[in-house]
Amino acid sequence: MLADHKQRDPAKVVSMEVRVRGRVQGVGFRPAVWRLSRALGLRGEVFNDSEGVFIRLWGPEEQVAVFFDRLRHEPPPLARIDSIECKEGRGSMPADFRIAPSVEGRAQTQIAPDAAICRACALEISNSRERRANYPFTNCTHCGPRLTIVTGIPYDRANTTMAPFPMCAACETEYTDPGDRRFHAEAIACGACGPRIALRRLDGHAPYLEKLSSEECLAAARWLIMSGAILALKGLGGYHLACDATNFDAVSRLRRLKRRDAKPFALMARDLGVIKEYCVVGEEEERLLIGSAAPIVLLNASGGKRLPPAVAPNLGSLGFMLPTTPLHLLVMRGFARPLVMTSGNLSDEPQAIDDNDARERLAAIASHALVHDRRIANRVDDSVVRVMAGRARVLRRARGYAPAPLRLPSGFESAPQILAFGGELKATFCLLKDGEATLSQHQGDLEDERTFDDYRKNLTLYAKLFDHRPAAFVVDCHPDYVSSKFARARGLATSTPVMEAQHHHAHVAACLAENGRPLAAPPVLGVVMDGLGFGDDGTIWGGEFLLADYRGYQRLGALRPVAMPGGAQAVREPWRNLYAHLTALMDWPELARHFSQLDHCAELSKRPLSTLEAMMRSGVNSPMASSCGRLFDAVAAALDICPDRQAYEGETGARLEAIVDENELRNGDEAHSYSFSISQRSPGGPLFLDAGTMWRALLDDLMTRTPPPVIAARFHKGLAAGIVAMTTELTRKSGVRAPLFDTVALSGGCFQNDILFAEVVCRLEQAGFKLLTHAEVPANDGGLALGQAAIGAARLIDEAQRHSLRGGVRVARA
Ligand SMILES: [Zn+2]
Ligand SMILES: [Zn+2]
Repeated sequence: MLADHKQRDPAKVVSMEVRVRGRVQGVGFRPAVWRLSRALGLRGEVFNDSEGVFIRLWGPEEQVAVFFDRLRHEPPPLARIDSIECKEGRGSMPADFRIAPSVEGRAQTQIAPDAAICRACALEISNSRERRANYPFTNCTHCGPRLTIVTGIPYDRANTTMAPFPMCAACETEYTDPGDRRFHAEAIACGACGPRIALRRLDGHAPYLEKLSSEECLAAARWLIMSGAILALKGLGGYHLACDATNFDAVSRLRRLKRRDAKPFALMARDLGVIKEYCVVGEEEERLLIGSAAPIVLLNASGGKRLPPAVAPNLGSLGFMLPTTPLHLLVMRGFARPLVMTSGNLSDEPQAIDDNDARERLAAIASHALVHDRRIANRVDDSVVRVMAGRARVLRRARGYAPAPLRLPSGFESAPQILAFGGELKATFCLLKDGEATLSQHQGDLEDERTFDDYRKNLTLYAKLFDHRPAAFVVDCHPDYVSSKFARARGLATSTPVMEAQHHHAHVAACLAENGRPLAAPPVLGVVMDGLGFGDDGTIWGGEFLLADYRGYQRLGALRPVAMPGGAQAVREPWRNLYAHLTALMDWPELARHFSQLDHCAELSKRPLSTLEAMMRSGVNSPMASSCGRLFDAVAAALDICPDRQAYEGETGARLEAIVDENELRNGDEAHSYSFSISQRSPGGPLFLDAGTMWRALLDDLMTRTPPPVIAARFHKGLAAGIVAMTTELTRKSGVRAPLFDTVALSGGCFQNDILFAEVVCRLEQAGFKLLTHAEVPANDGGLALGQAAIGAARLIDEAQRHSLRGGVRVARA
């Protein structure tokens, strides 16, 4: 490295060879190096190769030191430097500094995530003297579309949906000038050469309002929204549906027409000031909102102003984002109030991206559509992030995050290429190659046929973009997941081995991989609080304590299994879980006698209980499940929170969290929480965390008319304390002096509940455990594919080692 400043001879000319790794291609890195070198009077060259960026540098020692300092501290906005390695250079000094042609090697196929409009472009379109004033497709190297427009590799204009728009002379000049912000910006465009917007009626008459200029389209779109209409808006990765969020009728109409009864709508505001009128925005949340990923950020809705309840029924949070594209920015400009900006689809279908499809599907919802003539190549939904326990946690990883690769921990360097197919709900898939894992953008629930079609399309696209040739597939061990069935069929057809990963083991492995836990590290306790997943004993799991590393796991404990009368129906209808939980405590006649004054008992007794009893007794269509999600369902139903039907996955958890009484929660007296007990059914078998004692206390509180917010607080605290008690118990249980583990990995969809998560984190830290938690990868099933890929890789690496010891290498069928 460079000599210390004091010993430096300012006049001495040094020569360096510099290797930069990280996200350094397609993000304006070479021109940034070029500008910096020229500004400092350095000579040499910079080019891309298969490992990243390579720089040869000549100049006075002092200037070279400044170069490194500025490169490290002021990289281009979308770049991420993982490492800079320097060694002494060779050869003779050239006459200037230049950008040299790329060195072809193994395909370096980084596709960057889409980035929200940057400050410079935003200023440019607001300036009437600029040639891009009010131009809705303005972008530069530091912002604009990437994954949403790419159709092939290498990532250049011909392989994007910008291909049909030849650059004008002015754009070409910028594109070829290394000193320009748009040097090699593949999506470069202006009003003279780029895509255009149009306003279209969706009611069948005069499909295009042909005569309107771009400005008139924008003005008409704003007027339509202002007057209470619902507008379809062709965005970056799909269509949005927009309406005035403060207009009670418009929001209710949108909810009815979209057939979405309760799931919260996302909101967009023109600036932070508008958001702060409705929500509390912390420092980290502000950083997220204005960052280049510009996700939907879940915020506490306790600003001064209120929105109609139909925006986010029964929840205490609102999901806000800032304008992500110049088009959104131009539309939003007219509004000092938030707009609903929800995905353009009907309930659970994927967001529309094709213009004809959008017209067909959205005509019943929106009167007009603001469209444009740049094709959306890939559907990419808006990402959702929430700050929990002080850190940003990605809940839905899509626009702005995917397909940024995650570097795999040490030990995985020799892993072969692997494709992991993910789960079924909130599905993603994961490609493993060259020590990196690429997690796809959120695909959605694969039970929906359109979503599954899209998932298959994206598998093909990613294989092409990442030049991916998997040696093995990994699937969830659930026999009926469509992703697993599809992968097995494809494995047969292509003679590719298919490995299985247990659902909750994959959750833990995802958490390990995200946190860089080395392959050789000792096992951790994986605490997975989740909905449902297929267990290795044929029952359904979902509240698990697994001693696990990448290779395998041992089920040390679980929530005590309770019946799910009606199977899939029990997932939708919380009252079924309430009945099962209560009758696990005592017989129904006894319950009815003790708690006859409770409305819930009266309500439950009207249900078809004898059918349920028969199911539970025979076990037919009534599987046992150790699910944390179903426990939340049961508690919610006991508080009369959507007992009949959950409108969306996780509604009970979100609504229970929303009503929690803060004072009760902060009350340090543990007598104010419902305790869980720990039991063991068979010697040597797993320990069970039993909700029986919790239910007795909860029923007593119901009898004394304790307010539901207080009950909800006591439940959250009690469950957190139970999880920590179980964790502590499991370290002791080993009997040997050394504890079984000192590190706990938290995963599973129930940890998206801020209160449960924060309570568990705080208590485990107090108890002295090291914690691994999710941040960039969702704790829910959206992260599953990463864990599957890591598990598959660990097994194949072991296999290869075993066989190389014997002198032969082969890929085994697991
Ligand atoms: Zn820009
Ligand atoms: Zn142009």
